[in-house]
Amino acid sequence: MELDSHAEELASDLGVDNEEVKADLQNLVEYSVPIDEAKQSLRRKYGDGSTGSSGPTTKSIGEITPEGSNVSVTAVVLSAGERSIRYQGDDHVIVEGELADETGRIDYTAWEDFGLEPGETLTIGNAGVREWDGQPELNLGEHSAISVTDDSLDVPYEVGGESTLAALETGDRARSVEVTVLECETRTIDGRDGETEILSGVFGDESGRLPFTCWDPRSEIETDASVRLENVYVREFRGVPEVNVSEYSSVETLDREIDVGTDAPSLGIGEAVDSGGIYDVELTGTVIEVRDGSGLIQRCPECRRVIQKGQCRTHGEVDGEDDLRVKAILDDGTGTVTAVLDDELTEAVYGGDLDDARDAAREAMDQSVVADTIRERIVGRTYRVRGHLSVDEYGANLDATTFEEVSEDPTDRASAFLEEVDA
Ligand SMILES: [Zn+2]
Repeated sequence: MELDSHAEELASDLGVDNEEVKADLQNLVEYSVPIDEAKQSLRRKYGDGSTGSSGPTTKSIGEITPEGSNVSVTAVVLSAGERSIRYQGDDHVIVEGELADETGRIDYTAWEDFGLEPGETLTIGNAGVREWDGQPELNLGEHSAISVTDDSLDVPYEVGGESTLAALETGDRARSVEVTVLECETRTIDGRDGETEILSGVFGDESGRLPFTCWDPRSEIETDASVRLENVYVREFRGVPEVNVSEYSSVETLDREIDVGTDAPSLGIGEAVDSGGIYDVELTGTVIEVRDGSGLIQRCPECRRVIQKGQCRTHGEVDGEDDLRVKAILDDGTGTVTAVLDDELTEAVYGGDLDDARDAAREAMDQSVVADTIRERIVGRTYRVRGHLSVDEYGANLDATTFEEVSEDPTDRASAFLEEVDA
């Protein structure tokens, strides 16, 4: 049924002006309120007693399921952060964060400015329930009634959205972190409003590292600076979680340094691949194969992709540039990953540089001798590899930053493995 017909039906049922009902209905639907829910809420607004019993049920947060209909809850605001989103062609400022009571926590999106403040206890009448990534979320909109209660609720969660980098997950919002800027560069992108400058780089704290994008460049965010960031959100980019700093985030320079941990989490390969991408991780396994496209290779001078027989898939026939690379399949019994070694790491395992590789290839009149030498050196040996893990439809790739052989002694290896299992 069209919105018009819904409005007409409602207007005649309720005995009110058609245009007025239609405007209300349109508003609710634009804010993603399902049509049935929107009609119910308008019946209540215009005082139709006939649906009185089907109003929202009062629930504790732990009882809310993604399939449920509208609810009323009493909850503490754990976090509240503004963000601008483009919805149906218009920019809306929404407020997002988490609510909690004694039974659990839930994410919410507020489509109206309710002036939500972290720490306040609210009674929320008629919040919409929607599903995101299998979890329920609350939608607070024009149809919701919100009041601050004097009796504050005690909840077993910290108010304020404080987090460490390691604890951040894709989908998190209104988080606060204190970090050191490890890398930072200005980039120009073709954004939704034309060319804009953004910052991108890497944040670090004691718990780990994560890449970031800052959509509204700030002078406080520069390499080596320690900063406190409030109201950031996390989304997935190129297979790993990324911190997003928006125009609504606050950035403050700290007068003390935030130490950056030097260790990366060490995981089993199967577990790491299952968890999706991880920005900085350490995996240990045996090299079972050195893949084609390793050793002495040629790259397209335009796009840097590896080319075959002087042909780039995008740029056609090009004058390829020599480079060194290894793609090694690492296996630890729980899974496999392709470790990709850059030119420097490849030189180390090959035991020579690009000139040595070229000489060897010329002498043999075959450049595959370089890969053969590498194969002889590393296949069957065990390596600890640290780097960026991305998982996509092409498989799991570990872009290596370090590649170190693990002790040959099998008892050492076994005890290291047991320690990992115990941890
Ligand atoms: Zn190319």
